[in-house]
Amino acid sequence: MKIIETIAEMRQFVREQRGAGKTIGFVPTMGALHQGHQELFHKAGERCDIVVASIFVNPMQFGVNEDLAAYPRDSEGDARKAAAVGVAALFLPRVEEMYPTGYATQVDVLGITDLLCGKSRPGHFRGVATVVTKLFNIVQPDVAFFGQKDAQQVLVLKRMAADLNMALEIEVVPIVREADGLALSSRNAYLNAKERQAALSLSRSLALAKQEFAAGRRSVQELKQLILEELSKETLAVIDYVEVYSYPDLAKTETVAGQAIVALAVRFGATRLIDNLILGGTEGCY
Ligand code: AMP
Repeated sequence: MKIIETIAEMRQFVREQRGAGKTIGFVPTMGALHQGHQELFHKAGERCDIVVASIFVNPMQFGVNEDLAAYPRDSEGDARKAAAVGVAALFLPRVEEMYPTGYATQVDVLGITDLLCGKSRPGHFRGVATVVTKLFNIVQPDVAFFGQKDAQQVLVLKRMAADLNMALEIEVVPIVREADGLALSSRNAYLNAKERQAALSLSRSLALAKQEFAAGRRSVQELKQLILEELSKETLAVIDYVEVYSYPDLAKTETVAGQAIVALAVRFGATRLIDNLILGGTEGCY
Protein backbone atom coordinates (compact mmCIF):
# COMPACT_ATOMS: atom_id res chain seq x y z
CA MET A 1 0.00 0.00 0.00
CA LYS A 2 1.24 3.45 -0.93
CA ILE A 3 1.14 6.13 1.76
CA ILE A 4 0.72 9.53 0.17
CA GLU A 5 0.97 12.85 1.98
CA THR A 6 0.86 15.44 -0.79
CA ILE A 7 -1.83 16.43 -3.27
CA ALA A 8 0.70 16.38 -6.13
CA GLU A 9 1.69 12.79 -5.37
CA MET A 10 -1.95 11.74 -5.00
CA ARG A 11 -2.77 13.24 -8.39
CA GLN A 12 0.21 11.44 -9.94
CA PHE A 13 -0.95 8.10 -8.49
CA VAL A 14 -4.50 8.65 -9.80
CA ARG A 15 -3.13 9.56 -13.27
CA GLU A 16 -1.11 6.35 -13.39
CA GLN A 17 -4.04 4.19 -12.31
CA ARG A 18 -6.40 5.82 -14.78
CA GLY A 19 -3.75 5.42 -17.48
CA ALA A 20 -3.75 1.70 -16.72
CA GLY A 21 -7.54 1.69 -17.17
CA LYS A 22 -8.37 1.13 -13.50
CA THR A 23 -11.57 2.32 -11.85
CA ILE A 24 -11.12 4.05 -8.50
CA GLY A 25 -13.22 3.53 -5.37
CA PHE A 26 -12.68 6.18 -2.71
CA VAL A 27 -13.35 6.01 1.02
CA PRO A 28 -12.82 9.27 2.93
CA THR A 29 -12.40 8.85 6.72
CA MET A 30 -11.10 10.62 9.79
CA GLY A 31 -9.12 7.54 10.86
CA ALA A 32 -9.13 5.53 14.10
CA LEU A 33 -10.32 2.82 11.75
CA HIS A 34 -12.84 0.21 12.87
CA GLN A 35 -15.03 -2.47 11.29
CA GLY A 36 -17.42 0.17 9.91
CA HIS A 37 -14.59 1.69 7.87
CA GLN A 38 -13.38 -1.81 6.92
CA GLU A 39 -16.80 -2.54 5.48
CA LEU A 40 -16.56 0.55 3.27
CA PHE A 41 -13.10 -0.55 2.05
CA HIS A 42 -14.48 -3.99 1.39
CA LYS A 43 -17.44 -2.69 -0.63
CA ALA A 44 -15.14 -0.36 -2.58
CA GLY A 45 -12.86 -3.30 -3.40
CA GLU A 46 -15.79 -5.36 -4.62
CA ARG A 47 -16.97 -2.64 -6.97
CA CYS A 48 -13.81 -0.92 -8.20
CA ASP A 49 -10.39 -2.02 -9.47
CA ILE A 50 -8.48 -0.13 -6.80
CA VAL A 51 -9.37 1.45 -3.45
CA VAL A 52 -8.06 4.82 -2.30
CA ALA A 53 -8.72 5.79 1.32
CA SER A 54 -8.04 9.09 3.02
CA ILE A 55 -7.54 9.93 6.65
CA PHE A 56 -7.94 13.60 7.46
CA VAL A 57 -9.28 15.02 10.71
CA ASN A 58 -10.79 18.07 9.09
CA PRO A 59 -10.66 21.11 11.38
CA MET A 60 -13.30 22.93 9.31
CA GLN A 61 -16.04 20.47 10.33
CA PHE A 62 -15.45 20.79 14.09
CA GLY A 63 -17.08 23.53 16.17
CA VAL A 64 -14.94 25.59 18.56
CA ASN A 65 -15.96 23.58 21.63
CA GLU A 66 -15.87 20.18 19.94
CA ASP A 67 -13.36 17.33 20.11
CA LEU A 68 -10.89 18.25 17.34
CA ALA A 69 -7.83 18.07 19.63
CA ALA A 70 -9.01 14.90 21.41
CA TYR A 71 -10.17 13.06 18.29
CA PRO A 72 -8.42 9.62 18.31
CA ARG A 73 -5.45 9.45 15.94
CA ASP A 74 -3.54 6.25 15.12
CA SER A 75 -1.86 6.56 11.70
CA GLU A 76 0.33 3.47 12.13
CA GLY A 77 -2.48 1.18 13.25
CA ASP A 78 -4.72 2.63 10.55
CA ALA A 79 -2.11 2.02 7.84
CA ARG A 80 -1.82 -1.61 8.95
CA LYS A 81 -5.61 -2.08 8.89
CA ALA A 82 -6.03 -0.39 5.50
CA ALA A 83 -3.21 -2.44 3.96
CA ALA A 84 -4.71 -5.64 5.35
CA VAL A 85 -7.97 -5.11 3.44
CA GLY A 86 -6.27 -4.27 0.17
CA VAL A 87 -6.37 -0.45 0.10
CA ALA A 88 -3.98 0.55 -2.71
CA ALA A 89 -3.23 4.08 -1.53
CA LEU A 90 -3.78 5.86 1.76
CA PHE A 91 -3.92 9.64 1.50
CA LEU A 92 -2.80 11.35 4.72
CA PRO A 93 -2.58 15.07 4.00
CA ARG A 94 -1.52 17.54 6.69
CA VAL A 95 -3.83 20.42 7.56
CA GLU A 96 -1.51 22.92 5.79
CA GLU A 97 -1.60 20.80 2.64
CA MET A 98 -5.40 21.00 2.52
CA TYR A 99 -5.81 24.55 3.82
CA PRO A 100 -2.69 26.54 2.90
CA THR A 101 -2.31 30.19 3.86
CA GLY A 102 -4.82 32.25 1.89
CA TYR A 103 -7.38 29.44 1.66
CA ALA A 104 -10.80 31.13 1.28
CA THR A 105 -13.41 28.79 -0.27
CA GLN A 106 -16.29 26.92 1.34
CA VAL A 107 -19.10 24.74 -0.02
CA ASP A 108 -22.55 25.24 1.48
CA VAL A 109 -25.48 22.89 0.90
CA LEU A 110 -28.66 24.73 1.89
CA GLY A 111 -31.90 23.50 3.44
CA ILE A 112 -31.25 19.95 4.66
CA THR A 113 -28.31 21.23 6.72
CA ASP A 114 -30.69 23.34 8.86
CA LEU A 115 -31.88 20.37 10.94
CA LEU A 116 -30.54 17.37 12.92
CA CYS A 117 -26.73 17.52 13.19
CA GLY A 118 -26.64 20.65 11.04
CA LYS A 119 -28.71 22.44 13.69
CA SER A 120 -26.76 21.03 16.66
CA ARG A 121 -23.39 21.59 15.02
CA PRO A 122 -23.55 24.87 13.07
CA GLY A 123 -21.03 24.91 10.23
CA HIS A 124 -20.36 21.17 10.48
CA PHE A 125 -21.75 20.26 7.06
CA ARG A 126 -20.06 23.25 5.46
CA GLY A 127 -16.79 21.75 6.63
CA VAL A 128 -17.76 18.28 5.43
CA ALA A 129 -18.98 19.48 2.01
CA THR A 130 -15.86 21.59 1.54
CA VAL A 131 -13.35 18.88 2.42
CA VAL A 132 -15.19 16.19 0.46
CA THR A 133 -15.29 18.47 -2.60
CA LYS A 134 -11.54 18.97 -2.28
CA LEU A 135 -10.93 15.24 -1.82
CA PHE A 136 -13.14 14.40 -4.81
CA ASN A 137 -11.19 16.88 -6.94
CA ILE A 138 -7.89 15.38 -5.81
CA VAL A 139 -8.79 11.68 -6.06
CA GLN A 140 -11.35 11.89 -8.90
CA PRO A 141 -13.01 8.60 -7.95
CA ASP A 142 -15.55 6.69 -10.02
CA VAL A 143 -17.43 5.73 -6.87
CA ALA A 144 -17.18 7.21 -3.35
CA PHE A 145 -18.36 5.15 -0.37
CA PHE A 146 -20.06 6.56 2.74
CA GLY A 147 -21.74 4.96 5.75
CA GLN A 148 -25.46 5.15 6.54
CA LYS A 149 -24.30 5.73 10.14
CA ASP A 150 -23.95 9.40 9.11
CA ALA A 151 -27.30 9.48 7.34
CA GLN A 152 -27.58 13.25 7.01
CA GLN A 153 -24.03 13.48 5.71
CA VAL A 154 -24.93 11.06 2.92
CA LEU A 155 -27.96 13.17 1.93
CA VAL A 156 -25.92 16.38 2.01
CA LEU A 157 -23.13 14.89 -0.12
CA LYS A 158 -25.54 13.33 -2.62
CA ARG A 159 -27.25 16.72 -3.00
CA MET A 160 -23.88 18.43 -3.41
CA ALA A 161 -22.60 15.93 -5.98
CA ALA A 162 -25.80 16.24 -8.02
CA ASP A 163 -26.00 20.04 -7.77
CA LEU A 164 -22.35 20.55 -8.69
CA ASN A 165 -22.38 17.93 -11.47
CA MET A 166 -19.64 15.88 -9.89
CA ALA A 167 -18.79 12.98 -12.18
CA LEU A 168 -18.97 10.19 -9.64
CA GLU A 169 -21.40 7.89 -7.93
CA ILE A 170 -22.03 7.77 -4.20
CA GLU A 171 -22.62 4.33 -2.70
CA VAL A 172 -24.07 4.02 0.79
CA VAL A 173 -23.04 1.19 3.12
CA PRO A 174 -25.36 0.00 5.94
CA ILE A 175 -24.49 0.68 9.58
CA VAL A 176 -22.03 -1.79 11.09
CA ARG A 177 -22.80 -2.61 14.73
CA GLU A 178 -21.17 -4.40 17.64
CA ALA A 179 -22.79 -7.71 18.56
CA ASP A 180 -24.76 -5.92 21.30
CA GLY A 181 -26.14 -3.33 18.89
CA LEU A 182 -23.90 -0.30 19.46
CA ALA A 183 -23.09 1.33 16.12
CA LEU A 184 -19.33 1.38 15.58
CA SER A 185 -17.79 4.83 15.85
CA SER A 186 -14.29 6.15 16.44
CA ARG A 187 -15.86 8.17 19.25
CA ASN A 188 -16.87 4.97 21.13
CA ALA A 189 -13.24 4.94 22.33
CA TYR A 190 -14.08 7.93 24.58
CA LEU A 191 -16.71 5.96 26.55
CA ASN A 192 -15.98 4.53 30.00
CA ALA A 193 -17.60 1.21 30.95
CA LYS A 194 -20.75 2.79 32.39
CA GLU A 195 -21.19 5.12 29.42
CA ARG A 196 -20.60 2.23 27.00
CA GLN A 197 -23.38 0.30 28.73
CA ALA A 198 -25.69 3.33 28.72
CA ALA A 199 -24.97 3.93 25.01
CA LEU A 200 -26.81 0.69 24.20
CA SER A 201 -29.98 2.67 24.81
CA LEU A 202 -29.50 4.18 21.32
CA SER A 203 -29.83 0.92 19.38
CA ARG A 204 -32.34 -0.38 21.93
CA SER A 205 -34.68 2.56 21.38
CA LEU A 206 -34.31 2.24 17.59
CA ALA A 207 -35.14 -1.47 17.82
CA LEU A 208 -38.23 -0.54 19.83
CA ALA A 209 -39.29 1.99 17.18
CA LYS A 210 -38.73 -0.65 14.50
CA GLN A 211 -40.85 -3.15 16.40
CA GLU A 212 -43.67 -0.65 16.97
CA PHE A 213 -43.57 0.38 13.32
CA ALA A 214 -43.82 -3.28 12.31
CA ALA A 215 -46.82 -3.59 14.64
CA GLY A 216 -48.53 -0.79 12.73
CA ARG A 217 -47.70 2.38 14.69
CA ARG A 218 -47.37 5.33 12.30
CA SER A 219 -47.73 8.42 14.50
CA VAL A 220 -44.44 10.35 14.58
CA GLN A 221 -45.37 11.85 17.95
CA GLU A 222 -45.94 8.41 19.45
CA LEU A 223 -42.78 6.92 17.97
CA LYS A 224 -40.73 9.84 19.30
CA GLN A 225 -42.35 9.50 22.72
CA LEU A 226 -41.48 5.78 22.91
CA ILE A 227 -37.87 6.52 22.06
CA LEU A 228 -37.65 9.39 24.54
CA GLU A 229 -39.05 7.14 27.28
CA GLU A 230 -36.57 4.36 26.48
CA LEU A 231 -33.65 6.78 26.44
CA SER A 232 -34.73 8.49 29.64
CA LYS A 233 -34.39 5.17 31.52
CA GLU A 234 -30.65 5.77 31.23
CA THR A 235 -29.64 8.49 33.67
CA LEU A 236 -26.37 9.00 31.75
CA ALA A 237 -28.17 9.72 28.47
CA VAL A 238 -28.47 13.45 27.70
CA ILE A 239 -30.58 13.89 24.59
CA ASP A 240 -29.46 16.27 21.88
CA TYR A 241 -32.25 15.33 19.47
CA VAL A 242 -34.76 12.59 18.71
CA GLU A 243 -36.42 13.20 15.35
CA VAL A 244 -38.52 11.35 12.82
CA TYR A 245 -38.60 12.88 9.33
CA SER A 246 -39.78 11.61 6.01
CA TYR A 247 -36.89 10.11 4.04
CA PRO A 248 -34.91 10.97 2.02
CA ASP A 249 -36.30 14.52 1.79
CA LEU A 250 -36.14 15.16 5.58
CA ALA A 251 -39.53 16.85 5.67
CA LYS A 252 -41.55 17.23 8.85
CA THR A 253 -44.43 14.79 9.01
CA GLU A 254 -47.05 13.72 11.54
CA THR A 255 -47.52 10.23 10.15
CA VAL A 256 -45.03 7.85 8.61
CA ALA A 257 -46.09 7.15 5.03
CA GLY A 258 -43.49 5.70 2.68
CA GLN A 259 -40.00 5.92 4.16
CA ALA A 260 -38.99 7.79 7.28
CA ILE A 261 -35.77 8.21 9.21
CA VAL A 262 -35.52 7.96 12.97
CA ALA A 263 -32.42 9.96 13.89
CA LEU A 264 -30.88 10.23 17.36
CA ALA A 265 -28.05 12.24 18.86
CA VAL A 266 -27.36 11.63 22.54
CA ARG A 267 -24.53 12.55 24.88
CA PHE A 268 -23.00 10.10 27.32
CA GLY A 269 -20.64 12.12 29.47
CA ALA A 270 -18.55 14.22 27.09
CA THR A 271 -19.23 11.92 24.15
CA ARG A 272 -21.92 12.70 21.61
CA LEU A 273 -23.13 9.67 19.66
CA ILE A 274 -25.52 9.43 16.71
CA ASP A 275 -27.54 6.56 15.35
CA ASN A 276 -30.45 6.14 12.97
CA LEU A 277 -32.94 3.78 11.42
CA ILE A 278 -34.87 3.89 8.17
CA LEU A 279 -38.50 2.83 8.50
CA GLY A 280 -40.53 1.52 5.59
CA GLY A 281 -37.64 0.52 3.35
CA THR A 282 -34.60 -1.69 3.08
CA GLU A 283 -31.87 0.95 2.79
CA GLY A 284 -29.73 0.96 5.91
CA CYS A 285 -32.34 -0.88 7.94
CA TYR A 286 -31.44 -1.67 11.49
P1 AMP B 1 -15.47 8.86 10.02
O1 AMP B 1 -14.05 8.37 10.02
O2 AMP B 1 -16.17 8.69 11.33
O3 AMP B 1 -15.61 10.23 9.41
O4 AMP B 1 -16.24 7.89 9.04
C1 AMP B 1 -15.79 7.66 7.72
C2 AMP B 1 -16.86 6.93 6.97
O5 AMP B 1 -17.16 5.70 7.63
C3 AMP B 1 -18.18 7.72 6.90
O6 AMP B 1 -18.74 7.56 5.61
C4 AMP B 1 -19.01 7.05 7.96
O7 AMP B 1 -20.40 7.16 7.73
C5 AMP B 1 -18.54 5.62 7.85
N1 AMP B 1 -18.84 4.90 9.09
C6 AMP B 1 -18.47 5.25 10.34
N2 AMP B 1 -18.97 4.38 11.25
C7 AMP B 1 -19.69 3.47 10.54
C8 AMP B 1 -20.47 2.32 10.89
N3 AMP B 1 -20.62 1.94 12.13
N4 AMP B 1 -21.06 1.65 9.89
C9 AMP B 1 -20.94 2.03 8.59
N5 AMP B 1 -20.21 3.09 8.20
C10 AMP B 1 -19.60 3.81 9.16
